[in-house]
This record gives sequence, structure tokens and C-alpha cells, in this order.
Amino acid sequence: MNQQHVYYFDNNATTRVAPEVVDVMIPFLREQWGNPSSTYGFGRQAGEQVDGARARVAALINAEPREIIFTSCGTESDNSAIHSALTTQPEKRHVLTTAVEHSANLKFCELLQKRGYTVTFLPVAPDGGLDSELLEKSIRPDTAIVSVMWANNETGVVFPIRDIAAICRRKGVLFHTDAVQTPGKLKIDVRELDVDFLSLSAHKLHAPKGIGLLYVKRRVKYQPYIVGGGQERGRRGGTENVASIVAFGRAAELAMASLHGENVRVRALRDRLEDSILGGIPGTSRNGGKEPRLPNTSNMAFDGVEAEGILMLLDQAGICASSGSACTTGSLDPSHVLTAMGCSAARARGSIRFSLGIYNTEAEVDYVLERLPGIIARLRASAPDA
Ligand code: PLP
Repeated sequence: MNQQHVYYFDNNATTRVAPEVVDVMIPFLREQWGNPSSTYGFGRQAGEQVDGARARVAALINAEPREIIFTSCGTESDNSAIHSALTTQPEKRHVLTTAVEHSANLKFCELLQKRGYTVTFLPVAPDGGLDSELLEKSIRPDTAIVSVMWANNETGVVFPIRDIAAICRRKGVLFHTDAVQTPGKLKIDVRELDVDFLSLSAHKLHAPKGIGLLYVKRRVKYQPYIVGGGQERGRRGGTENVASIVAFGRAAELAMASLHGENVRVRALRDRLEDSILGGIPGTSRNGGKEPRLPNTSNMAFDGVEAEGILMLLDQAGICASSGSACTTGSLDPSHVLTAMGCSAARARGSIRFSLGIYNTEAEVDYVLERLPGIIARLRASAPDA
């Protein structure tokens, strides 16, 4: 089969596994397949590699290795943090979060409501920003945890996590942040941020899907979400996904090494893409404030067109991007993030996200800029009220 070049502009959805990461995984699939919990040498060797990876991912976020719990994904990490806060403080039955969290958090909070907990979903401003004063005022005596994402996966808008953590500290409330979109894009230092829990997912930083971590600050009480064997020092049952954990460790090293250089280069590519679309295609605007924002993300609204059509024609040209809309059983619901920012349903339905990554090139951006104006013009010409 003659494979078409993939112009991949959807790095917030997932990332290509780095070749260096694939290389370190393979021995753990082929030869070193022992169970890390086994007491004989063959198992212990696998266990040592898990420990090595734990130290590497801990270094990425300036944590201690013992503060890391490996999980199966970012979703599990988010669920686990909130679950732990509620079970270690049974008298507290309120969760404070935002209306623009990833469904990994939102759906869990909705489930909690059905189970009789109270959840406050804080609104955001039209630029996607969060009002820290409102957050502070919304903390109640029975608030078990505040859970606020660091950077939004749809718009790239970055929340003032350090300030929010300070508020929570002052109020004596646990604080969790979903930092899934930040590695390789923002410097992560859990000591400086002073958070109690932080979630990451390996497939957003050039490691495989199906592996994540939850940072739990030392001395913060923790109740496991998944119980079984005594893995992860009794904090997460289930035999460790050794190959993926080792991959995560290598990816963490690469993310640290490339943070500055790629941040500058990817940001410049993103800005060129965004500025050229805004300047070159009439009826376009950005969703979300320009700063503070992830350096790789651009969410753009195109007047008078449906994202579905744009994405289909981009796909035909080999370009992968995504809509801010979640596709549910064939119908395109407007994005909950854009809706929370006050966008009309029509604007939300005409918005698409480009999320760049370390493998994108100038030539790829040129290609998108060559194809996109024609696609938008064609869709506008065929729109029912054109
Ligand atoms: N949180 C955010 C902000 C995300 O972007 C994602 C994935 O898109 C998740 C959580 C869920 O991570 P995972 O796919 O590893 O479950």
C-alpha cells in the first residue's frame, strides 16, 4: 500500500512514540518479560527497571520517586485523586472543579453527583481564563478537594495553578491538577507549585498509550482506587506494565531535554500557522486568550462553516486536526469548553484545533497554509445560505 504522508497536527490527542522510546521498550517485550513482583532475579531485574523509570518520571516533575504511582492512563489518575480525597475525608462531600475540565474529570464528577456528592463546576471567562477569587469564595467547609486542570486540551489556555494551590493551602483543602497536556510544553515542578496530586499521561509525551501516573505529595493520605496485589507500595493493584513504564521514563528524559528548544521552535511554528490563518482567511478568529497558553495549541473559529466539513477535507489532504467538539453517536455536540467560554453553538461548531509537536516542520505548516484557504472557500461557497 502506498502510504500518504500524514501531516499530523493533533498532538493534544496523542503523540507519535519517539523512536528512542520504542528502542528501550522492545527488550521488555522480547527478553525481559519477568514480573517485577517475583522474588527471583529474572523478576527483580524487571522491578529494578520500573524503579529506574520511576526516578526518571519523578525528575521530570521534581518529585521524589516514592511520590509516583503508575496508573493505566490520565483518566485513571484523575479519577483516583478525587476518589482518594473523598474516601480519606468521608465527612467532606463537596468537590470544586471547573466547567472546562477534560471528560476524565467531568464525567467522574457527574457520577459523584449521582452518588449524592455535591460538585461545583466553576465558569470561565470568554478568553477561557479562571477567576481565582471566585474559586476561593467557592471553597466550602465540606470541600474535600479542588481539582483544576493546568492547561486546557482544547484551547491551550493555562490556568494559574500556583496561585490556586496557594489558595487551597491557605484554606486547608487538598488540590489536584490534571497536568496531562503540559509535559514538554511547560516546566513542571511540584515543589514550586505545591500541589497535593498531579496527573500525567505518557501518550501525550511521545510514549505509548495506556500508561499514566499520579503524583501524590508525601504525607498526603491516599486511598487506592484499584485494589488487588500490593503493587505500587499498596497504592495501585495490578501487575505493572513494565515495557510502557520504561518507555515513560525515557520519554520523560527526552521531554526535559527538549523543553526549551522545542518550546521556542514549536511556538514559532504555531504562531506562524495561527497568524497566517487570521491574516489570510477572512472570517477567522482565535478561541481563547493569546497568553498564557500552551505553545503548541491553536483553536480557531471559521465563520459560516462546520468543523466537520473542514476536518473531512483536511483529512482528504492528509492533514490530521480535530474539532473542539466531542463526537457522540454520530451527532456533533458543540464543545463544552467553547460553550463554557460563551461561544455560540454555531461558532463552537465551526471551530477546529491544531496542536503541534516536536516532529512538525516548517514545510508541513506551509502545506496546511496552502490547502486551508481553498477548503474554507469551497465550504463557504457550498453553505446553504451562501
Ligand atoms: N486530561 C487531559 C487534559 C487530556 O487531554 C486527556 C487526554 O486527552 C486526559 C486527561 C486523559 O488521558 P488518557 O487518554 O491517558 O486517559
